[in-house]
Amino acid sequence: MSNLRIDTDKCIGCGKCVKICMKDHLAVKDKKVTETLHGCLKCGHCIATCPKQAISFADPKDNDILGKARQEGFMDARPVSEEDLTAIRDKMEHSSSMGDLCETHILEGKALNKFMDDVWEAVKEKEADTDIVREMAEWRDSNKLGPNPALWNGSQVLLIFADSPEKAFMASNRMKTEGFGRGVIGFHSNVIMMASKIDGGLAKKHVPHIDKKLYMAYVIGHGRRIIEPGIAPLFKKAKGLKDKLF
Ligand code: SF4
Ligand code: SF4
Repeated sequence: MSNLRIDTDKCIGCGKCVKICMKDHLAVKDKKVTETLHGCLKCGHCIATCPKQAISFADPKDNDILGKARQEGFMDARPVSEEDLTAIRDKMEHSSSMGDLCETHILEGKALNKFMDDVWEAVKEKEADTDIVREMAEWRDSNKLGPNPALWNGSQVLLIFADSPEKAFMASNRMKTEGFGRGVIGFHSNVIMMASKIDGGLAKKHVPHIDKKLYMAYVIGHGRRIIEPGIAPLFKKAKGLKDKLF
């Protein structure tokens, strides 16, 4: 199934989108990009990376969500609370109609740092010509204390393990819906999935208790300017009071 709209008049066949797609869903043929239909997960990386704005989502609603996430200045550095994480993971892992969908694991703090060190070891040579790997190299060489560019401002990574890509995809959609209602957003990490493809033992090394396959790695956090659901009713109340008084 195609989730994308490709404007072949704009496409120059540079292949940047092919390189960034962690699902091998895109290929360049006769100097134009085409879909291989290997299973697009609507991460939006190809859209963000295309220098000619030749790709968009087929469903305008998906473009709106992506556009809104960008306008929000994307993520700030606050970690997602234990309560929100539990609710999101519960929603992802079980569906009343399909039963168990996936198993999830959160990486944060030192465990995340060690994991990202191994991600770096895996990708540093094989993917050295990829933009994000170059950014990671510059960040590591500069010894800057800022956040790892692969994580943006995120401080937690949600790993999604499943028996099939369909179940992982469904779990990821449930995560986005539940998360958005809680002011929680994020992005699929293509660099983590690149590393996992190169080093097949990466997930097992860091999450030995889960036997299923790693399908997705989602950097999770708070949207910068999304009003927290708990605060929104207070704003409404204050506005109502102001309207009454003035
Ligand atoms: S990144 Fe854009 S211009 Fe380059 S091949 Fe992909 S769609 Fe075409
Ligand atoms: S949206 Fe993501 S998974 Fe789909 S084609 Fe683009 S990069 Fe690949």
